[in-house]
Amino acid sequence: METGEGPQYNKTAPDGIAGRRVSAVDGTAKLLFKFNDGAPAESVTLFNKGRASACLSSQSGCACGCRFCATGALGFRRDLTAAEITAQFEACRREAGGKLSSVVFMGMGEPFLNWENVKRAILVLSEQKGFNFPQSKMTVSTIGIVPGIKELAASGLKVKLAVSLVTSDAGQRAGLAPMDKKYPLPEVLAAAREYCRLSRNSVFFEYVLFDGLNDSPRCAGKLAALVEGIDCKINLIPYNRSAASEFLPSGEARAKEFQKVLIGAGVRTYLRREKGSDILAACGQLAAAK
Ligand code: SF4
Repeated sequence: METGEGPQYNKTAPDGIAGRRVSAVDGTAKLLFKFNDGAPAESVTLFNKGRASACLSSQSGCACGCRFCATGALGFRRDLTAAEITAQFEACRREAGGKLSSVVFMGMGEPFLNWENVKRAILVLSEQKGFNFPQSKMTVSTIGIVPGIKELAASGLKVKLAVSLVTSDAGQRAGLAPMDKKYPLPEVLAAAREYCRLSRNSVFFEYVLFDGLNDSPRCAGKLAALVEGIDCKINLIPYNRSAASEFLPSGEARAKEFQKVLIGAGVRTYLRREKGSDILAACGQLAAAK
């Protein structure tokens, strides 16, 4: 969670954007938007081996209340319009010097709780006379909104799906991500399986590694068993600590051990190197702090 002592934005931001910060470590650029009514949202442009990706927000704040997420601690302000989402795309594209390789709806908010506007933005971005950006290079990330996953699966859109599993322990998940009470893990996994079948895409599962909480080899074994038979890739994300957080990130050795168990079980697993954490732009750190 981010506190009022969070990042100070510099004053050189272009018109229409309330603030801009660039990581001195890896060049990650975080933009703060203040829309007409003052609703804030952030987007992030990340660079990796000559490629750039944009992480866009779908809502100002978020109602899902995940305990480990700075956006969740903000609460919900409102849905973003399709125009506000595409405005973020344009700004990130400028940051990337005109070229973006991929887009993820993984910033502030839960995309499936604002699906009409997110879908409209996807169509505008991919439309030939719009931004002509391929749907196959876009990923929608969800905490596990089952009707949203089903709708995407049936939509014919070519965008990819990422589902944040958070933990492999069904009992523990509801405590970390309250949405689990409405959409329990087995239902989320069943919807993901159906998405793979209908879309003929694989699904990305995101798993945040918290020290001592969900990062044991036993948890890894449990995770491998959960995703068995699903055409998936797992992204392991060492938790990004924010100032007031009650959680700690897993150490590198422990994260690698976790990955090894999954790979040993035949699951394609990637250990993500987080970017932008020095400017609170990494996963779960977006809090629109001034
Ligand atoms: S992790 Fe995603 S769904 Fe959960 S509170 Fe944060 S933005 Fe919302």
